[in-house]
Amino acid sequence: MLDDHLRKEPALEKAENRPGTAQEPAPITIGILALQGSFHLHLRSLQRLGVAGRLVRKLGDLQGLSGLIVPGGESTVMSLLLNKYKLFEPLREMGHRGFPMFGTCAGAILLGHGEGLPGRLEIAPVKLVRNAYGTQIYSFTAPLELSPFKEPFHGVFIRAPKILPLDKARKPKSSGSRQSPPVEVLGWHGDLPVLVQCGSLLLATFHPELTDDLRLHEYFLEHCVGTSQPKPQAVCTVP
Ligand code: GLN
Repeated sequence: MLDDHLRKEPALEKAENRPGTAQEPAPITIGILALQGSFHLHLRSLQRLGVAGRLVRKLGDLQGLSGLIVPGGESTVMSLLLNKYKLFEPLREMGHRGFPMFGTCAGAILLGHGEGLPGRLEIAPVKLVRNAYGTQIYSFTAPLELSPFKEPFHGVFIRAPKILPLDKARKPKSSGSRQSPPVEVLGWHGDLPVLVQCGSLLLATFHPELTDDLRLHEYFLEHCVGTSQPKPQAVCTVP
């Protein structure tokens, strides 16, 4: 459900969205990396918000996007496929130039740093430890207090990573001269950060796309992509 403060009076909403008015937001398209993992569910979430989504599988698919969702799945497989389809370096460059990206679980692993496999994009200045709660049987759900929202968020953690601060002594490899914005923790599970934002990057170690709760996708669109476009739409089904 949408946050109360994002709802508008119907009459006001209608006036604001009348074609040709100055307030009408430009239509945007959000890409969803679709090499492996739960990309269809992210597409469904965007559709429910009335936002166009495009599955990204090759370089040309990145053209004209306003943001990119990197889904959960298997980060090693995704990293190998990113290289195979020649998307790895272009995405890394886009990320370092400040392109909005939302990584969930394996997607968050790819956006951050870490030791060993998989090869990471190293865009977000945090370290992620894969499978840090244990194997599949240590998957769990938990109500999460996320600072942007009044009501708890149903957190679905599947072989989830843990987020650690980046070792200050270790300079990020490919950050160039660009200074990263500060990392803001938006949500904790116990004493572990599970949702962080760094400028236009949003990383969640859980799976919002596995719930009917659209608040995080909406947050990404509003606070990372910078659009006030999303409006609630009827639920549509995905085959
Ligand atoms: N454990 C997976 C990995 O390391 C991530 C799991 C997920 O995305 N749910 O890639």
